[in-house]
Formats: sequence, C-alpha cells, structure tokens
Amino acid sequence: MQIIRRSADMTYWSKKVIASGSSIALVPTMGYFHEGHLSLMRKAVKLADHVVVSLFVNSLQFGPQEDLSRYPRNFERDSGMAANENVDVLFAPVDEEMYGPDFSSRVLVDGLTDTLCGKKRPGHFEGVTTVVAKLFNIVKPCCAVFGQKDFQQLSVIRKMVRDLNWDIEIVGHPIVREHDGLAMSSRNTYLSEKERGDALCLFRAIEHARARFAAGLTDTKQLKDEARDIILAKPGVSIDYISVVDKDTLADKKIMDINSVLALAVRVGQTRLIDNCYLGNAPDAGR
Ligand code: AMP
Repeated sequence: MQIIRRSADMTYWSKKVIASGSSIALVPTMGYFHEGHLSLMRKAVKLADHVVVSLFVNSLQFGPQEDLSRYPRNFERDSGMAANENVDVLFAPVDEEMYGPDFSSRVLVDGLTDTLCGKKRPGHFEGVTTVVAKLFNIVKPCCAVFGQKDFQQLSVIRKMVRDLNWDIEIVGHPIVREHDGLAMSSRNTYLSEKERGDALCLFRAIEHARARFAAGLTDTKQLKDEARDIILAKPGVSIDYISVVDKDTLADKKIMDINSVLALAVRVGQTRLIDNCYLGNAPDAGR
C-alpha cells in the first residue's frame, strides 16, 4: 500500500490508473479505524480494480464548540489496518494541502441539510460536501463507499452527485455494530465504562422501534414517546433529536411506513452519538 500526502501526487497516480483502463473505488474517512471502516474497504475492493482510502480529519465540518482537537488519531495503527485490507493507496493529506491560506469555496446542498444533524450542527454538511467534492476531483473514482451509520450524510452526498452530474456511483454500506449492538464509531473511545453501558440505550430504542413497527404501530408520536422513555431512563443521557423521516426526502413522517427511518442523536455525557434504522428494508443491503 502506498501512502500519498500531496493532492497532485494523488491525481497523478489516479490518472495513470485510469489511462491503463482500470477503475478506482474511494472510501473517505477521518481515520481511527474500526471494523465499520474496514467493512467499507472490503466492499470497495469488490467494486473496482483499485481502492483509495482517504484519511483526513476535516476541520471544515467541525463547529467552533466541537471536538476537532481531541478527535482520536493514530496514523501508524490506521495505515497498518488499511494495508491488511488490500487498499492500494492511503491518501492522507495535511490540512494545508486541502485548505490553502486563500481557500474560499464551498459546496452547499440545500434542503436535505436543514433537518436532523444539519439543524443541530450549522455548517457541518457544507464542510462534508466541500471536502468530498475535493476528494472526488483529486482521486477521480468511479464509485465511493459511505456508511449508512451517517444516514443523512449519505443522502446529502447522493444529492450532491445527482445535482452536479458527477459520474460516480455512491454505494451505501449497512451499519456495523459491536457484539451488544452499539454502532461502531471513532467517538466511542471518548466513553467511560459507565457511559459505554449507557450508550446501549440507542440500540435498545432502535430494537424497540423495529419490533413496534413490525407489530403494526404506525403512529410516529407514540413511537417517539416510547423511544424517549427508553433513552432517558439513563441519567446523564440527553436527546438532541429523535426523528422519523422519509428515507429519500428526509421529511418528517407523522405516519410510519416501510420507507421511514428512525434517526437518533443522543448525548452520553459529553459525547454526541448518532444511530438510525430503516423500518422497512434497507436500500443497498444486498450490494
Ligand atoms: P468517519 O471516519 O467517522 O468520518 O467515517 C468514515 C466512513 O465510515 C463514513 O462513510 C461513515 O458512515 C462510515 N462508518 C463509520 N462508522 C460506521 C459503522 N459503524 N458502520 C458502517 N459504516 C461506518
């Protein structure tokens, strides 16, 4: 596996690969790899001739009060893990390489970013779409793999690609969970032992929602009340949002159907965790 630090070197590599008739799959990440990231890499290996994983903690998507400086980082460990997954290139640019002193452009997807995490984290998705747009232009992939763990992010990126006519297939990958159901996340490392236990309330609420929907409940308010009770049963846990939205438009649903998604953002101590589940069949599940 090659490690590339400069955008120009990355593009040079990609152009050579494409000129030889081969294709590239991209997996964008912020590093501190866990099994969720590795499963995205394994999917990418099946989708194209070569795999590029980007590792960049994107300052543009963190708010002023957020955890940019304490975001977990371990380059040696990450590069070893990626090398074990048949990754061809780990593209790990330094900050100045992506955002020079005169950098002043932004990519903004309207509408889908007004709700859920977009409402709670102003500017977050603009940071995400801007960095992903840059990565697409630098790496030139035929497809890119994103996790359904960041369900709104996946919708926003699909919309950006459609709106801007990018010839890149966006592939979603199901949420990878710990043995007890907690969705894997680099941010789980912030949790104390007690908080790690409390964080299971997200998965409990998700399992409850799935069971209630399968048993015929369609009233969103009722489901949200029940999910709230499950989550707030733990002192020290607070709710950013509990929402039931349409899987495509992200519009709030009063009555749930098979196209509905339950989306949760919860604070366990100081740590903000997100999780979600499709109440019907997850798209991309078989890809
Ligand atoms: P991050 O490094 O947290 O920005 O995540 C990089 C990519 O990995 C994103 O597409 C995430 O949605 C995806 N990802 C993170 N955690 C998981 C998980 N538990 N299961 C599946 N994908 C994940």
